[in-house]
Amino acid sequence: MRRIRVEVKGIVQGVGFRPFIYRLAHQWHLTGSIHNSESGVAIEVQGAAEDVAALLAALPSEAPPLARLDEIVIAELALREESEFRIEHSTRSQTANTLISPDIATCSDCLRELLDPSDRRFGYPFLNCTNCGPRFTITRSVPYDRSQTSMADFPMCALCQAEYDDPLDRRFHAQPNACWHCGPQLTLVDRNDVAQPGEPIAETIRLLSEGRILAIKGLGGFHLAVDATNAEAVRELRRRKHRGEKPFALMVDNLEAARALCHVSAEEAVLLEFPQRPIVLLRKQGRELEGIAPDGNDLGLFLPYTPIHHLLFANSDLTALVMTSANLSEEPIANDNREAIERLSQIADYFLFHNRDILLRCDDSVVAHRAGATQFARRSRGFVPSPILLSEPMPPILAVGGELKNAICLSRGRYAFLGQHIGDLENLAAYDFFLESIAHFETILEVQPEILAHDLHPGYLATQWAKKQPNIRRIAVQHHHAHITSCMAENHLTERVIGIALDGTGYGTDGKIWGGEILVADFHGFERAAHLAYVPMPGADMAVHEPWRMAASHLHAAFGLDWPNHAPALLAEIAPAKLRIVQQQLRNPQRLQQTSSCGRLFDAVAALVLNRTHVSYEAQAAIALEAVCDPFLSQGAYPFSIAASDPIQIDAKPLFAAITEDLRRKVPANVLSSRFHLGLIEALAEATRRIAASSGIRQVCLSGGSFQNAILAAGLERQLTNAGLRVYKHTQVPPGDGGLSLGQLLIAAHSL
Ligand code: ZN
Ligand code: ZN
Ligand code: FE
Repeated sequence: MRRIRVEVKGIVQGVGFRPFIYRLAHQWHLTGSIHNSESGVAIEVQGAAEDVAALLAALPSEAPPLARLDEIVIAELALREESEFRIEHSTRSQTANTLISPDIATCSDCLRELLDPSDRRFGYPFLNCTNCGPRFTITRSVPYDRSQTSMADFPMCALCQAEYDDPLDRRFHAQPNACWHCGPQLTLVDRNDVAQPGEPIAETIRLLSEGRILAIKGLGGFHLAVDATNAEAVRELRRRKHRGEKPFALMVDNLEAARALCHVSAEEAVLLEFPQRPIVLLRKQGRELEGIAPDGNDLGLFLPYTPIHHLLFANSDLTALVMTSANLSEEPIANDNREAIERLSQIADYFLFHNRDILLRCDDSVVAHRAGATQFARRSRGFVPSPILLSEPMPPILAVGGELKNAICLSRGRYAFLGQHIGDLENLAAYDFFLESIAHFETILEVQPEILAHDLHPGYLATQWAKKQPNIRRIAVQHHHAHITSCMAENHLTERVIGIALDGTGYGTDGKIWGGEILVADFHGFERAAHLAYVPMPGADMAVHEPWRMAASHLHAAFGLDWPNHAPALLAEIAPAKLRIVQQQLRNPQRLQQTSSCGRLFDAVAALVLNRTHVSYEAQAAIALEAVCDPFLSQGAYPFSIAASDPIQIDAKPLFAAITEDLRRKVPANVLSSRFHLGLIEALAEATRRIAASSGIRQVCLSGGSFQNAILAAGLERQLTNAGLRVYKHTQVPPGDGGLSLGQLLIAAHSL
């Protein structure tokens, strides 16, 4: 006989962990108890030594899917007189640190019930259990309890209550538990909010099949849905949504349907079937659907994650649905029925509503499998508010992130809570969402920050908000320093690293726009060891939307005032008046905004190689350039010059001389793109090798939005690894600005 105490820390409250232990105790004839503790659960078990060992073995391997075990501490106790195993009620102080689970896709047990005509929840669009369903997006406050969620409006019927109270039932303490009798219901309305006759799911299917645009209320907000195989409907959605050419994500019924559109590796299949159900970026293959993702090689696919989604596919011939966040351009996703009608009546023909409120909006997450690891493009639904585990405890800090793809971060002990995707703050509705997100995180985490961390850029709205907060210590953090420390934090690095930060825009300590940076950094500071040589941005922000301007700038740098003669094909596309202005501006380049941005370098090369003058969304030109790159073409890298200055200047002048020569010889675009990618990789690797040799640092962190380019990321990692350096990258937070606040937070913590 043996009695032990087991303390489990991590996400073990509100995820079915206590009933899981209760069932194990029954199975192995153990006595004892379990209760929630400050930072997890505390278990005492007593029984035959081999049965106690069996329970311990099952802890990590059989834990419920939503549980995350960060630490297990075991202590031997003296035997006791005892005859049963009890789940003890928790006191308020014991649940103070309860972590709210993210929203999780319908589990296989629930799906079976949903499709089983003999089950009492057959076809019920809101069924869920301890292992699945809404959590974060329906929770108002803590402790996580039905009364604090938007399920408070739906008292459970006797049958649901009995399930909820039974420790052996898979709905024990499932706060959103509901059924046809007691739970939320669907309604279908037209754009004038007039209820439509008929069964809402069947009618929705009929309308989608006819090519109509539906606004469908989901977990974290509304989606706009159309039949993805109906090119006319897709075109109409783009037109009404003012969507330009930005790709749409598609929801498909299952892996087989995904494989009809894309190549799906074993690892990618795992990502698609993650209980978080992110959108997974996959390589297009097979059937090409018109107008869905015209630029790149990738298509974003995801599988159904709510009972409503499953019902739409199970009862129809639909194979793929466009499911795009219901908003205009970069506004936040709509989440409320009235708001949806107000904002979307010009876009959607019909609205599939339900009466369970979404208390916090949360967009779909986007991931890709890149070079053997998961890479986030957006970390939101399904992952938020799961924390990032840090290497040591932090004081309470709020980091407010950047301007684009904003996400906030709040620390509590060893956890960093990265918030959901907010969007671009220059948009007023997104700014309101930003404020809402801060208030909500402070509430559910019960944290009052003592320090604010913000970007160095004085014009960012997040910076301005931070500067207005009274009586709090503030730390301004350089953008690329934050990128690198974000990568350090999730990899638990504390020593100095070489950080390669590549992105579109970040405010430098010299007031210039940085974005092609190699830093030597730790949490206390950084030195700029190398950067792409500065070039002017004719037209400032206009250069982001009109990549030909960056081509003009680089050509001017390479050839001087004779530059227009070196790209006749591209410049033939530009209105003469516009061209004259840029020519004028480049006569006095020192008066223009200067940039070392990697994103703008991609723009310049893409404009020349693809003869592309304008883009309709950020990074479109770079994505198109990557799409034509064939990394297996070995035609030699384009040259950069790498000056032995401090910081090292990586200059693209020789590259543009070589590109214009190739353009004259009508070398095909795939060769040009490959030579450019390889040239940039070799230049960055060479500069990094020099910095490693002079500093003795062997650890290299890769961060910044440009690392979403798979060829650049994989190629650079390979060259650095071959040079004997240890490469670290992002696998838990996005390399882009969606992961910025984590890095800001760590720098603020170390400024004390
Ligand atoms: Zn379930
Ligand atoms: Zn019920
Ligand atoms: Fe950035």
